[in-house]
Amino acid sequence: MIDQLFERLEDIYPELVQFRRDLHMYPELSFHEEQTPKKIADYLTDLGLDVKTGVGGHGVVGVLKGNKPGKTVALRADFDALSIQDEKDVDYKSKVPGVMHACGHDIHTAGLLGVAKVLSEVKDQLEGTVIFIHQFAEELAPGGAKPMIEDGCLDGVDVIFGAHVWATEPYGTVCFNEGDMMAASDAFEIEVQGKGGHGAMPHMTKDALVVASQLVLNLQPIVSRHVDPLKPAVVTVGSFQSGEGYNVIANTARLKGTVRTFDEDVRDQVEQAIGEIAEATCQLAGAKYHYNYRRGYPTLWNHPHETQKIETLAQSVVGQENVKRMDPIMGGEDFAYYLKEVPGSFFFVGGGNPEIGAEYPHHHPMFDVDERAMTITGKMFISAVLDFLSDGKQTASLSQVKTVQE
Ligand SMILES: [Zn+2]
Ligand SMILES: [Zn+2]
Repeated sequence: MIDQLFERLEDIYPELVQFRRDLHMYPELSFHEEQTPKKIADYLTDLGLDVKTGVGGHGVVGVLKGNKPGKTVALRADFDALSIQDEKDVDYKSKVPGVMHACGHDIHTAGLLGVAKVLSEVKDQLEGTVIFIHQFAEELAPGGAKPMIEDGCLDGVDVIFGAHVWATEPYGTVCFNEGDMMAASDAFEIEVQGKGGHGAMPHMTKDALVVASQLVLNLQPIVSRHVDPLKPAVVTVGSFQSGEGYNVIANTARLKGTVRTFDEDVRDQVEQAIGEIAEATCQLAGAKYHYNYRRGYPTLWNHPHETQKIETLAQSVVGQENVKRMDPIMGGEDFAYYLKEVPGSFFFVGGGNPEIGAEYPHHHPMFDVDERAMTITGKMFISAVLDFLSDGKQTASLSQVKTVQE
């Protein structure tokens, strides 16, 4: 059956490209997705799936029940875009000023719809249920995964798989890693309150700009001197706003930043250290401060058994030489929430191809990927579904197929 499904996926590839390019031209920001979920729901409804919309907010869930009873596999794709101006020179460039699919979520969505189409055509032969989770707002904490789970999208689910197209890995590859894969991602803000005044009379002021500058430097040794060197951590101050006039001493300064960690103890340690350093730095200068730390997505932990399955299936789909164990990434991903509820794995599908201009990192204004990554993602999902629903018997037949082809 698998060969026939892979062939069918190749057949409908032009349709997936068309769907992806439409999403690419009309991207929608996190929590503001209106047309995108509608398009997805229409597509799934046409396939005869049982479709729920407005799940947890803007989410769409399609349920494909096979003719025979069995387990339930969930597959997830996200569909939100970013506030970035699309600077590519292609005919499917974003038509929405300042908004762009610069992370490949359009690819995820169209790819998963392809899987839904192909599997819905053989539902008579399916033993079990496949749940298609189309998630809104992955890019912006608190994200769409949590409210969708609270709204029941994982009810009855035995296992879940998700994939991210990855522009910095070449097209044709699949990357995996068990255990810690993506970091817990938090945000912080510190407002320093000084005492403004005339630029020529600093002795009568408390310069918030100078205090905040010292604070930025004082935060740097958290990673290099406080945290265990064998445990990863990032503290980045990404925004510094202070001062208006050239001859005015700033009254306030505002810092915004992000913290990335894997270990919960390190996460606590960094949160506390930033607070202590802010307090000490401001106290020394006689300034006041306000510190706010917001916890975002937790660490994405890939379940070992399901990840080993992904590795084996990937070897059949793209060949052993194109399957790679990947280092963990300090980026965050709210797929982490699903993996806290049910076993599963989140893997990466290479999408880089300099020949077609797909050579920029994610969130770059020139970002693009090789659209054929949709087919590889689709084949991986189809293999995972069949394998899981047939309790591994499918893996055996997959490797047979591989041997015959060789
Ligand atoms: Zn992104
Ligand atoms: Zn993304």
